[in-house]
Amino acid sequence: MFVERLVRRHWHRWFAYSVAKEFYRAGKGINPATGRECYLAVCGICKETGFEKEMEMDHKEPVISVKGRGTLEQFITRLLCGPDGLQRVHKTCHVKKTNSENARRE
Ligand SMILES: [Zn+2]
Repeated sequence: MFVERLVRRHWHRWFAYSVAKEFYRAGKGINPATGRECYLAVCGICKETGFEKEMEMDHKEPVISVKGRGTLEQFITRLLCGPDGLQRVHKTCHVKKTNSENARRE
């Protein structure tokens, strides 16, 4: 749906995104591949520390509920949740979580 795509494209500008990003940071480290300083973050799923750039922002409660799509208002409310509803996670951990959510969908 047009409105959903539009809001998704810009949701990283929602205040909670930057608040959660800051919250999950765990100092700085040196990326061995480039030798450059970079941010570290703690994964909200496996609790391991890793390079922030290898992580994504996850909605603890999936934006599209496993019980069904719901209304546009429900979608917006879940997408634009507060910082507590978000967690920084490894891309690999995110994929596993999304797959298990998809498996619970009918
Ligand atoms: Zn992880």
